[in-house]
This record gives sequence, structure tokens and C-alpha cells, in this order.
Amino acid sequence: MKNSISLKILFLVLSGILGILGGLEFWELRHYKETVVVSEDFTEKIMLSEYLPSLKGTWGDTPIYIFDSGVPGGSMLILGGTHPYEPVTTVAAYVVMENIDVESGKVYIIPHANMSASTLGMLGNAYPKYFSVETPWGEQKYRIGDRGTNPLDQWPDPFTYVHYPSGQNLAYQDIRNLNRTFPGRENGTLTERISFAIMELIRNENIDIFFDYHEASLTYPVVSTYVAHDDSMDIGMMAAMMLSATQFPMKIEASPKNLRGLTHREVGDFSDTLALLMETPEPFIDRVVGKMTEDLMIEGIDEFLQTAAEKGLLYCDYDIKEGFQDALGNTIIGAPLDYRVGRHLSGTLEAINWLNQFFPEKAMSVSFPGYAEIMENGTGNYLHDPSQADKSRVFEN
Ligand SMILES: [Zn+2]
Repeated sequence: MKNSISLKILFLVLSGILGILGGLEFWELRHYKETVVVSEDFTEKIMLSEYLPSLKGTWGDTPIYIFDSGVPGGSMLILGGTHPYEPVTTVAAYVVMENIDVESGKVYIIPHANMSASTLGMLGNAYPKYFSVETPWGEQKYRIGDRGTNPLDQWPDPFTYVHYPSGQNLAYQDIRNLNRTFPGRENGTLTERISFAIMELIRNENIDIFFDYHEASLTYPVVSTYVAHDDSMDIGMMAAMMLSATQFPMKIEASPKNLRGLTHREVGDFSDTLALLMETPEPFIDRVVGKMTEDLMIEGIDEFLQTAAEKGLLYCDYDIKEGFQDALGNTIIGAPLDYRVGRHLSGTLEAINWLNQFFPEKAMSVSFPGYAEIMENGTGNYLHDPSQADKSRVFEN
């Protein structure tokens, strides 16, 4: 009897210790900060809660970085990290922020659109908390988050998620999916409020063109593509054709009218902005891959995906043996980080180019490195050393 009580106490203590060790890992990811050194054209950092005060003090609040040329011109908003388990979207936003030169017009960038979702990994999927990008001065470490808002910040999920305002029934877990809660509502769930605040930013600042950066699994038809709202279809079509002819394969999809809550649909319907979403190929989130490691995130090389490619089951180019050629003559093996970052950068630049041609009254002049530069020099070459930078340009996210 006495023995069994001591045994129970022993197990209680052991499970307590394991709980603390596990909890520390969760705590560390939740509080880890990424560093960014913004370019000299940076003018101001504000918080999303400026557009919806109820977000203040919550994990739904997130920084907005503004680059204002002071010269009249169009305005652009870029979202990275709508789905933080697609982390190249945030890295691409950082590369823009670190290198952008704005000659005319105004640029808003939100590198972590769903900050809460970036503070935990996907429950049940064992994968690393971070990945690192090599730079000439050391490594820059970034979080790998979840797809949806952290349940610590929004819980429980309902049996059915009824989208507002359409009333469409969506999968229950999509109530925490920022790309299913647009246009959001002022007094809704945390995720709906983040969407609403982003809509308020777009409407109040008269954003002319909007980009939502994503990464997709290669077994998903909407990969390596723009998804364009009806109003931005001309821009998306021309940009996709030009990119495919001169840089890398890019498709174009029309935003469906009967699937609600997505940025490319609702942002276009509920504001005057030209809405585009972009998807890169991200092997890391494919269902069929082997071990989900940091290497898989950086290199995107997976033998199971190769088998799927050989069976014609993928919706984009993929080859881990010989690679495939882009229009510039680069050989792409797997789906490396540089390839994915470069795609988002040139995907943005090419769309701005067509915005300027189709809508001269919304024209803007911005420059930052594109696909060719990233493929040649590597992403890390465009990330600056925070320890050498002017402190007024170093920020944590
Ligand atoms: Zn996504």
C-alpha cells in the first residue's frame, strides 16, 4: 500500500517535470522575437490596433511598417504570415522591408498578419520551431508557426463555422484561419477582428493594390500561381504571362465567387483595392513528405514528393534529381527557400508594373531585389546585420 502511494507520487512528480520541460518549449516559441533591419525609406511603424482598438494588448495585434515616399502615387499593402506555417511569406516581406526604395507612392507591410498563429507549431505535426537563413554575418532565425490562430488566444472552436456576413458554413477549424474570416467583423472572434482591422486599414488608407503572400503544397492545384479578384484579373494575367516567359513558371487562377472568407475574394468585394494572392511551392506542408525537418523547409527536397512528381500528381515543376530550368537558365532542384522568396518578390514587382500600365492614376515607383538577384546572390545577402545597423531601423517581431 505504502509502496503504491510512493509510486503514484513519483509518477506525479515525473509527469510534472515533463510538463514543465514541454511547457518551456512552448513558452520559448511563443516569446521568440525575429529581428528585421528596415531600409532607409522607412517612415513609421504603427500597430494594427490603430484600426481596431479592441486588438490592443492581444496576440492579434501586429506591427505595420510604412514606407512613404512623400511623393504622390499609388499605395500598396503586403501581408506576410497570413498562414505562419508558410514562413517564406514573412521572410519575403522582411526582404522587401530591408531593401525597399520608394520613389513615389506609399507602401504598408504587415510581416506577421496573424501574429497569434506564428506563436505555436501545428498541433500533432512534429516539426521544428525555427529555421535559419544563412547570411554573410551569421544566421537569422525565424519561427515556423501554425496555420490558424493559437487556441490559447481563441478557443473553443464551434461545431460549424458560419462565415460572416455570407452565412456560408465552413469547416469548424477555419474559424481560426485568417484566410477564411475576411471581411471580418468589429465585435467578432479574434481572427475576425484581425481581418476587420486589415479591411479598415485598406479602406481608410485607400490602398490601391493588395498582396497576400502564401505557400502551398505541391499536390494542391492552386500552387505557383496568382489568385486574382475579378478587378485585378488583367494585372494578374499579364504578370503571370510575363513571369512565365522571362523568369519562372507562374499560373493565374480566378478567385471563386462561391467560396467565402478568402482575401482575394472579400478584400476585393469589400474595398476598392486590387486584390491578389500568391502561392509558392512549399514541400514542407505537403501531406506525403517524409521527415519535416529544417532542411526540408530550406531545400524542399523530398523523395516521396519526387515519386508523386514522377506519377504526374503534382501541380508544378518539381525534380530533386536533375532539377528543372527556369527562363533565366537557373536549374531548380527541389523547391528551395531562395526560389520561393524570389518568386514572391518578382510576383509583386511584375504586378506593380502592370498596375502602372493599366491604372496610371494609381501608379507607383518602388524597387527591391527580384527573383534574378535572389537566385544569384541568395536571400541572406539581402538581410542586414542588426548589430551594425542604426538602432532606429532595427525592429523585433
Ligand atoms: Zn496559405
